[in-house]
Amino acid sequence: MNKEEINFFIERNLTNFSVNSTGWNDLIRKLLFEFAVAGWNMNHRVFGKEKLGELRCYTYSEDETLNAKLKKIKDKYSELSVKTCEICGEEGKMRTIGSWQTTLCLNHFLEQQPVIEIDNKQNITRNNKTVLNIKNITSAEVEYDLQRLELYNRQEEVFYFSWQDPNYYLLLKTIPISLFPKENQHEILALFQNVQDCEICGHKAVYQRSCLRCHHEPWNDSGYFIEDYGEKSNYIKECQMDIFIDEDDYEKYFKHDRSFEKSPHHQVLFNSDDLREYEKLLF
Ligand SMILES: [Zn+2]
Ligand SMILES: [Zn+2]
Repeated sequence: MNKEEINFFIERNLTNFSVNSTGWNDLIRKLLFEFAVAGWNMNHRVFGKEKLGELRCYTYSEDETLNAKLKKIKDKYSELSVKTCEICGEEGKMRTIGSWQTTLCLNHFLEQQPVIEIDNKQNITRNNKTVLNIKNITSAEVEYDLQRLELYNRQEEVFYFSWQDPNYYLLLKTIPISLFPKENQHEILALFQNVQDCEICGHKAVYQRSCLRCHHEPWNDSGYFIEDYGEKSNYIKECQMDIFIDEDDYEKYFKHDRSFEKSPHHQVLFNSDDLREYEKLLF
């Protein structure tokens, strides 16, 4: 087994991996190299793919000892893949975009995310591309507890928007209410008339026991809250620290969201000592 042979084996099989981009190529090369060293018959092809943001390799051998070695190698590179950006190979983490999972660094994550904007000519844009103009909307509908918006134009084309995108609620508020069916009109008006201040994130965005901006549940005196946190300020403090730490980069993504106004009385309850203690518990 010479180096050239192994390199040839690696480059030939690299293309058998169905992945989204080239960020994992180094990982796949190393995996194939370890396969060769472990005793894999290099005349046989190796297949793999990206599934749910993870590198999977389905190759299997009849030889039990070899198979155990292959399994270890496969597990090792699966674990590494969920920490490696699929696009550029930099440090990444598992992200959910829409309804699919993918492993990306922060930059590529933000690049993939559709940010809704409405410009002064009433164009609705997504990632700086105009989707449609509000004046051309002929009808609108909302579904799933107002979490999905559908806009139709004269050509009967439909455009979808999701509550997971920044400025979604701003868009919902901006669409003329008369374009919605009667039952939707009532729901939408009720939401914007009844949003309450969130003591956690400081936005006027609490509706039906959940904050539409930070997704935390407001404190209440029920058994579960008392049991877990003792008192209200502990709960608020912890939620605020979660937002500050921003483990999922949600705040970095949502920093341009203008859907909900900030409350002028908002108070941040934690200090740097609390944060240090809390991080010790987490990491
Ligand atoms: Zn990247
Ligand atoms: Zn909130």
